[in-house]
Amino acid sequence: MEHLYNGVHLDAPLDAHLRIWTLGTGSPSLSVQRHGIATLIKANGRWLLFDVGRAALQRMYECGIPIPEVTDVFLTHLHSDHICGMPDFWMTGWFVLHRKKPLRIFGPEGTRRMIEGLKELHHFDVTARSKYETALSSGKDFDVHEFGEEVVYDEDGVRVISFLVDHGPAVRPAYGFRVECAGRSVVLSGDTTICPGVLEHAAGCDVLIHEIAAASRRQLAGNEITRRILSIHTDPDQMNEICRRARPRLTLLNHVSLWRVTQYDILARVRAGYDGAVELALDRMEVLVGDAIRLFPPGPPKLAQDLIVSDTH
Ligand SMILES: [Zn+2]
Repeated sequence: MEHLYNGVHLDAPLDAHLRIWTLGTGSPSLSVQRHGIATLIKANGRWLLFDVGRAALQRMYECGIPIPEVTDVFLTHLHSDHICGMPDFWMTGWFVLHRKKPLRIFGPEGTRRMIEGLKELHHFDVTARSKYETALSSGKDFDVHEFGEEVVYDEDGVRVISFLVDHGPAVRPAYGFRVECAGRSVVLSGDTTICPGVLEHAAGCDVLIHEIAAASRRQLAGNEITRRILSIHTDPDQMNEICRRARPRLTLLNHVSLWRVTQYDILARVRAGYDGAVELALDRMEVLVGDAIRLFPPGPPKLAQDLIVSDTH
């Protein structure tokens, strides 16, 4: 008998070339159920991390990810909730988890300046620890690549393509990404309202990971700030339109921002009249993408007992 989870096959063989972890699925709010935005993809043996929100490092640890091997980082834009996990990921990944290779950071214009600021922030500690941990020194280094709308990454059959999205006039440029491997594709919207870039790149993709934001009518009517915020994000009706037009095999909603509505309300609105698979992403959810798509709700945190912990911190 075939088992379906809201339209997604669960019994298909494990033939996945793309594996996704929605590490953090929250907005800038302080919820520990939905930590800061971060998505990890393993494609043809390569680890690719997209955005590094609050607690990205802890979520990787809980998922049993070999953190020192995660050295390729892609940033959609430089809003703080997308990068505020960077200092911890950078420093703790180096001196506690013994990352040996530099971090390659692929980001929009302004990323180089942000990384220089990050290095200044931890200048004291990098200098101090380097005096007795010199063997690990390359793990503290950065290799920064600022990109436009282009193929950002093309290695070992894995391609990452950046495309412009619309996150309002104050946040330009802001990007989404399309990841391709072995004929499969995952599209990450980044932060955006409905825009041509997402519709074009998500058309017929395997998995679309898209932001969502919603407010009650009363909240919208009475609060100018909420209206402004929602104008640079995607509301459930716009998301419904994106699903209908792009028809991904699976849509996962993340960066969930809610004002006086529940996440179940927005899910119902996005699904209304649309027969494709749509789910709310949860922190530490795992998705395997192959001929079938297998979606695993988060289980108990794994105990990463094989991680070597330095005694010098
Ligand atoms: Zn943003």
